[in-house]
Amino acid sequence: MDDHQRELPDGGFFVRDGLFEQVAASSELPGYADEILDLRGHVVLPGLVNTHHHFYQTLTRAVPAAQDANLFNWLKTLYPIWARMTPEHVFASTQTALAELALSGCTTASDHLYLFPNGSRLDDEIDAARELGVRLHASRGSMSLGESKGGLPPDSVVDSEDVILKDSQRLIQRYHDPKPGASVRIVLAPCSPFSVTGDLMRQSAQLAREHGVRLHTHLAETEDEEQFCLQKFGYRPVAYMQELGWMGTDVWFAHAVWVSAPEVQAFARQGCGVAHCPTSNMRLASGIAPIKEYVEAGVHVGLGADGSASNDGSHLLAEVRQAMLLARVREGITGYSLSNDPNRRLMTARQALWLGTRGGASVLGRTDIGALEAGKCADFFAVRLDHLEYAGAAHDPVSALVFCQPRRVDFTAVGGKLIVKNGNLVTADENRVISRHNRLARGLLEG
Ligand SMILES: [Zn+2]
Repeated sequence: MDDHQRELPDGGFFVRDGLFEQVAASSELPGYADEILDLRGHVVLPGLVNTHHHFYQTLTRAVPAAQDANLFNWLKTLYPIWARMTPEHVFASTQTALAELALSGCTTASDHLYLFPNGSRLDDEIDAARELGVRLHASRGSMSLGESKGGLPPDSVVDSEDVILKDSQRLIQRYHDPKPGASVRIVLAPCSPFSVTGDLMRQSAQLAREHGVRLHTHLAETEDEEQFCLQKFGYRPVAYMQELGWMGTDVWFAHAVWVSAPEVQAFARQGCGVAHCPTSNMRLASGIAPIKEYVEAGVHVGLGADGSASNDGSHLLAEVRQAMLLARVREGITGYSLSNDPNRRLMTARQALWLGTRGGASVLGRTDIGALEAGKCADFFAVRLDHLEYAGAAHDPVSALVFCQPRRVDFTAVGGKLIVKNGNLVTADENRVISRHNRLARGLLEG
């Protein structure tokens, strides 16, 4: 995933102080290191970058009343359950989600936490991520437009805008690290057009730009949202963002499914990024985002697992596969696949992997991750090719990881430090994470 998209048979790398110093044929590497990792028989790729998630939703997977609902009904079912969360729920669910992500090859994750009931804080999530060792872009989400003001969420889960902005400022000052190699960055992320006021969007943008942090929100996810924006604000979602000063190189949107061709061009022109969440879009019947059009127009596109109440998993390599397959469904529907032109190719496995690595890095505004390249952070994952799932695909190991049924990866490292070793978590006790998580999830649903 370097600029030349090199693939090195019998390749290797030398890491020093958390960075790749040399990426080359193994025979050219220094003969000595403090630690040697023998990855013969593995395919090694840069760590995957997750650009959209809600870790806390791992507590409410497959909730029966929300299994077969569209976005708005799904949200209305889950808001009252989420309102019972405590700091312990935020901490435990972060560990669960990040463990799952790390075991799927993810080394940098963005999360969007937008409700803070019963004393919960973004700090609880950051503490859990530091323990686990995955890089975190922690989005300080918010909701301020409750039902009584025409918003979707119940008033019990929204906060005052004064509290939101003060806490946002506190978090930036306490945690945001703008330097290359950062393990924690803060993002400001009012939740969506139907749960915050335009005023909070404007003030969040101003605060973010004063401090040089990025902006993120849900946008154009469903047709319902488009109708809501037209009726309440008199704009389509993208035009509404334009009106609020929310278009720019420091902004990325989750989903961006319901967009017109001129809106795709507007994203490209103004440098906005898109977090594509294929499984969630299928799960909630939201639609199919025009990913090929985005990429051809030059829009930054990364992949997101999205929250675990609408996925209901956090396997990022599986999401790479879903992105490739869903793009092909769209190519079938639009007639692209009917062309006899041999140069017209369906979305390839390598293109999907690019979205999951370099694409994600560009969406998060990072040039220090996403590639196995000298000078970049030593974030990588490795998969052994002699597993059953890859039998018969050894002629193209890179594509095999996308075309074949994804499984747990064998090694994941962040800054050269192993988080997963031989298919097992190193930085947390998996069984303890699971049992604590299940106990908390049960309590949350029982109320
Ligand atoms: Zn989301």
